[in-house]
This record gives sequence, structure tokens and C-alpha cells, in this order.
Amino acid sequence: MLKNELSSISRATRQALDQVPCSFVDGEWHVCAASLEVIDPSSAGVISRIGESGVDGIDAAVQAARHAFERGAWSRLDGADRQALLTRLAELMQRDRNILAELEVLDVGMPLWLSTQLDVGGAIEAVRYMAGLARRVHGRTVQLSQPLTDAAFFGYTQKEPLGVVGAIIPWNVPLMIAVWKLAPALAAGCTVVLKPSEEASLAILHLARLIQEAGFPPGAVNVVPGAGALGGAALACHPGVDKISFTGSTATGRRVAEAAARNVTKLTLELGGKSPQLLFPDADLPQAIAGIAGSIFTNSGQVCVAGSRLYVHERVYSAAVEMLVEHARSLRVGPGLHPDTQIGPLINRRQQASVLAQLDAATQAGAQVLTGDARVDADGFYVRPTVVAVSDPRIALMRDEIFGPVLTVMPFQDTEHAIRMANDTLFGLSAYVWTQDLKTMHTVVPRIRAGRVAVNTEPVPWPGLPEGGRRASGYGRDMGEESFESFLETKSVLLRYA
Ligand code: NDP
Repeated sequence: MLKNELSSISRATRQALDQVPCSFVDGEWHVCAASLEVIDPSSAGVISRIGESGVDGIDAAVQAARHAFERGAWSRLDGADRQALLTRLAELMQRDRNILAELEVLDVGMPLWLSTQLDVGGAIEAVRYMAGLARRVHGRTVQLSQPLTDAAFFGYTQKEPLGVVGAIIPWNVPLMIAVWKLAPALAAGCTVVLKPSEEASLAILHLARLIQEAGFPPGAVNVVPGAGALGGAALACHPGVDKISFTGSTATGRRVAEAAARNVTKLTLELGGKSPQLLFPDADLPQAIAGIAGSIFTNSGQVCVAGSRLYVHERVYSAAVEMLVEHARSLRVGPGLHPDTQIGPLINRRQQASVLAQLDAATQAGAQVLTGDARVDADGFYVRPTVVAVSDPRIALMRDEIFGPVLTVMPFQDTEHAIRMANDTLFGLSAYVWTQDLKTMHTVVPRIRAGRVAVNTEPVPWPGLPEGGRRASGYGRDMGEESFESFLETKSVLLRYA
């Protein structure tokens, strides 16, 4: 059976599925007049409903966040107290780790081990890391030379929370990406309106329950589920928002940027990718093959930093591709709750159809599918891990983000050729270099146009390392001190003392 066995979930997870569709605004739950179905991607069956907050719901949430910010119960709280509350939230997330992980499996389709370790585990670590930064808000003193008058001056800068943050997140790793925005914004003293994807809101709504239980002041965090075209669009152009932090597709990111520009609202955009992997002949091949496969097939390829274009040195091309095909074929596809599952279904039927259509188009354009039929005979939205040999780098499969378990392979002749092919993309999010040679590594890493380069490893997010892109992959950074700083405003203070 390729469906999740719902009788195996915990009673607490069952209760979360049975909640009345609500939004969380100003510290209280508000029943939504309209609601949307929640579908289990492993079965295509309806398992729950979430609220549709609509434009009015967004407006109420922004007002609540604004009042909370101006009242100062969160924004003027001592950094140590913000740290304590964020740490309390991390403890509650740890307590409810299993509920959060099961909700993500049922909502997104990812295997339980992945949701437990990467999504929920990564989210908890991110809250802990950002809690530590809440006490590290520093300005600087400035030597004021060349005075314009005889008077004496002293100057310094101080950092202040930016204000109300609108966070719009996608469905692929919902809890972790929500926290990537929420935790640094809260640590900095901002208040937040969070709009999860209508495709995956369950774990975020449970997070809101934990935020309430932890005792955050009303309005500090507001969670407004519902359709992006309504709520997301309303949030992006709301004049009461000081910064939008968006993660999602490049197409929607452009719309968000246009909307935010109307109010000159600050913006962080974490968008799509088409990340290259470069396999050099000196790499440890078995280790590299497992890592290359993990870099593309994890979460069924629905990862912004997925390494979807593999370039292999011609000397090891045949051996590497053979190993890769064997590895891809060995991965166990199944429902996320099954303990043996390595690859779950895609998020929805639209995504499944889109990935399969891209594969068909690539085949017609001359590409060769090496792993056999990607289709799976099941009700759920499965696509098998697929490796495709490509000779024409201009085909859509090589240019567009697929967001599915599809890896293209091409040979390269030398390092210059590899770098040229790696940079032959409009995106610039991530890249992977597989080599044991320090000279190769130090030659290649600086020349790759990407926000991050991983060497001999698949993409493991660390809270201290910023995540983000260049060009069509967006601008600004999640995580790291860079992200925390982006939720602070700099004020210059000029003091005359004589
Ligand atoms: P979308 O761009 O479709 O949606 C992202 C978010 O924007 C969702 O919450 C969506 O709501 C909302 N939204 C939709 N329309 C609008 C609008 N007009 N105005 C404001 N918000 C809107 O992306 P997906 O959810 O499909 O996520 C997959 C994409 O996200 C991939 O392309 C991937 O590359 C990218 N991504 C990037 C990451 C990064 O760090 N760079 C990380 C993860 C994903 P709703 O879903 O309810 O429509």
C-alpha cells in the first residue's frame, strides 16, 4: 500500500487535524468563515481543513502586529527576556516534536525521518540559535573628524527593531522556513504576520499554539492561513508592513517585489534555483554518489537548493552515471509514515503533472531517461527518482526549476569547462563541488555565482550559515547574523558635548 496508515498517528496529531479552521491573531484564535481542504499527498484523500483568512483577516493581523509593536510589550522587552521566551518556545517544540513531524508528513508528503531531523529538528535549532542573538544588539561609536564648527561632537549608531514583518513561506519545508523568518524577526524585537502556504499550514498552526502556550505577548506573532493570491498578495502590498520576507518561486517573488515597491517596503526574496553539482575525477566516488543523490532526491527534489544539474568529468562519467542510476533505482518510494520510505510523494497533483510533463518534453527534445518510467501506479502524487542524460544544455529541463526528483547529467572536459557550465543559468542559489583536491576546490568555489557552495556534502542547513541567492534566486539572506541584522534598523545619534 502506498498510502499513509492514519491509524498509526498519535492522538495529539489527530486532534490537530480535527481543529476548527481558525487564524491566530492578537493572541487569540478566530474561526474563519471560509475554509480549504487539506490533502494527504500519499493518498489524495482529504484529511483536514484550514481557515481562509482572506484580505480582511490579513488586515486585522497587520493591525494587531502594529499595535503590539507600538505598545512595546515585545519590541521594547529586554533582549534577555526575548531570549528566554524564544528558548521556551524551542523547549515546547522539542516536547511536541513528534506531533509537528507527523503533521508535516501528512501535509507535505516527506518521510517521517526527514521531517523529524531536517524540518522539525532544523526549526528547533534555528529558534535556539536566534534566541542567543536576541542579547547581541550592538551599535557602534563613530569618530567624528573634520568638524564643521568649533563645537565638539560625538556620534554613535544604535540598532532598533524594524517594525512589523510580513512572512510569506512556501510548502516544501514549511516549519523550518517559517522559523527561519520568525525567529530572527522576533529575536530582533519585531512583530510578525506569518502567511503559510495553503498547501501546508498544519504544523505552522500548531507552532502558533505553542507560541500562545509559551506566553508571547498578544500580537507579537499572528498566523493567517489561506490562499496566496488573496492573503499573500494583501500582505505584500499592505502599508502597515515594514518588511516582507518571502520564500517561494521566482514568478511569485517578482509579484511580491512589485507589490512591496508601492510602499517602499523592505524585502528579502528567497527564490528558486537550478543548482549545479560538479563531480571531479579525484572525488571519493561512492561517497560522492550518495551525496549527489541526497542533494537532488531529498524531499523528492522539492528543495530550493536541490542540485538538479550534474556535470561529471569525462574520465569518470560512465562509471559515475552507472552508479548513480543504480542508486536512484534502489531508493524506496512510499508514504511518509512508513519507516522504510526514503522518497515520499510530491506535494500535489499539479506538481506531479508538471514534473512528468517536463520529463516528457525533455525526452521529445532528445534527452535520455536512464532510470526507467518515473510514473508510479498509485493514487498519491509519486514520481520516481529519475536521472536524465542531456546533450543539449538549452532544453527546458536544464534551464527551468523542476522542483521534483529529476537530475540531469552531462560530461565536462576540464575545470574551466565545468565552471562555465555551472554558471550557465539565470539562478544563483547553491552549488556542489565533489573533489578531494584543495587546488580544484579553491579554484572553483570563488568562481561559482551562487549564495552558497557545498564541498563534498549535501545541503545541511546550519543556523549560523546564511541561506540565500543571487540573480533570479533573489536577494537578502535567511539565517546567520545577516538575517538577524536585516530585522534591525540603524539609527545615527549625533551628540554635541562642547
Ligand atoms: P509560490 O511562489 O507559489 O508560493 C510561495 C508563497 O507565496 C506561498 O505562501 C503562496 O501562497 C504565496 N503566494 C502565492 N501567490 C502570491 C501572491 N500573488 N502574493 C503574495 N504571496 C503569494 O511557491 P511554492 O509554494 O510553490 O514553493 C515552491 C517554490 O519556492 C519553488 O520555486 C522553490 O524554489 C521556492 N523555494 C525557495 C526557497 C529558497 O530558500 N530560496 C526555499 C523553498 C522554496 P499559496 O501557497 O497559498 O498560494
